[in-house]
Amino acid sequence: MSARTADAVVIGAGVLGAAAAFHLARAGHRVIVLDRGAPGREGSGTTAGNLHVQAVHTRRPGQKVPLDSARFLPLQRAASDRWESVEDELDASVELRRSGGFTIAETPEQRAELIAKHAWEERAGIATEVLDGDGARAALPLLGPTVTAATWCPLDGYANPLLTTPAYLSAAVRHGAEVHPFCPVQTVERSGSGWRVTAGDLRIDAARVVDVAGPWLGEIAALAGVRLRMTPVAIQMHVTVRLPETLRHLVQHIGEGLSVKQVTAGNLLIGGGWPALRLEPGPDGRSPISLGSVVGNVAQAARVLPFVRDLRLLRAWAGPLAATPDEMPVIGEVPGAPGFLVAGGTYAFTFAPLWGETLRCLVEGEPPPVDVHDLGPERLMEPATYEQAR
Ligand SMILES: Cc1cc2nc3c(=O)[nH]c(=O)nc-3n(C[C@H](O)[C@H](O)[C@H](O)COP(=O)(O)OP(=O)(O)OC[C@H]3O[C@@H](n4cnc5c(N)ncnc54)[C@H](O)[C@@H]3O)c2cc1C
Repeated sequence: MSARTADAVVIGAGVLGAAAAFHLARAGHRVIVLDRGAPGREGSGTTAGNLHVQAVHTRRPGQKVPLDSARFLPLQRAASDRWESVEDELDASVELRRSGGFTIAETPEQRAELIAKHAWEERAGIATEVLDGDGARAALPLLGPTVTAATWCPLDGYANPLLTTPAYLSAAVRHGAEVHPFCPVQTVERSGSGWRVTAGDLRIDAARVVDVAGPWLGEIAALAGVRLRMTPVAIQMHVTVRLPETLRHLVQHIGEGLSVKQVTAGNLLIGGGWPALRLEPGPDGRSPISLGSVVGNVAQAARVLPFVRDLRLLRAWAGPLAATPDEMPVIGEVPGAPGFLVAGGTYAFTFAPLWGETLRCLVEGEPPPVDVHDLGPERLMEPATYEQAR
């Protein structure tokens, strides 16, 4: 065993772990990042990579509890602002693109939802414009005849997930962080006033543990004696062959799980939270794709954007994410476990720059850039489960 010390051990090298490591290391903390596999391979490598600024559909297929858009939107706005500086801070391109997005409606109920969400967006300082069906088709002639209304948000965007996590990790390393891939965490125990973490042949004593293990966040917390209610789900993505630049904007659906965009390489990415064959990813995080979801998701895309019918589907994959029971993000220190912080949730790609900075503030006891007092892990804790508060 190699005995080490650090100011913070970050568990999980997805986009949240990478962003947290960068912000902590840049502020001068000695950071060790551990991942049981390859960094950025799980939710952060399989994600659609949309930067959601206008309200997202409040339920993905199969989701039981709708998202609280009124609370979520100001957070989305703050997350959007943070993305502006990411490429400069990391001194790297992540193919950040703000070419705007349409959220479309096809039924009168969905149109009413669009109008309601537009009012929330105004309150959150997010500029959106409501268009009727013809107005939407005039703005984006690729939209099909079933579209009856849309909202346009110039800030919706995309960053390439395959570049983002590595860029954060490289920048963290330049600031002195250590990254240990293929190094699964085995134990997390209280040690003096801090924590002792064992992983592979490392034994690390640190004042802080940052649990950003995505779908396995609850498992890592359980090692520390904390039981958190998280629901791992596996959802899938579909990608077409490359085509010349055709669709410059993100297209989403207000009433159904659908998001479509063309990425820099030319492929069209179609997603929206359709479930993989097994909703619960296996212990390795994998789930086979569901043909029903392939057909359902692609048919939706072809209905809303008829040009999709003529494209060849290249590939489909499933990826894991961790949802909270109330679908809101979780970020904060675990009560009764000083120095043990968690962060995660459904749209963590959009939130990564904001949560990276927020985690640094929480570690340093500084006020975070946004109010997160109601997003802490206490609401996910099963009663009297902090076994190590002894
Ligand atoms: C198909 C799909 C589409 C999505 N689309 C979007 C989108 O368009 N926009 C958006 O904002 N969000 C989207 N999301 C959600 C978003 O991608 C995730 O919320 C985010 O990537 C999660 O990042 P993370 O760092 O919290 O977790 P992850 O990326 O899952 O990383 C967790 C890491 O923890 C590691 N780990 C687990 N156990 C251990 C252990 N014992 N020891 C050490 N390490 C461990 C894992 O190996 C993994 O690398 C999507 C997700 C999926 C799956």
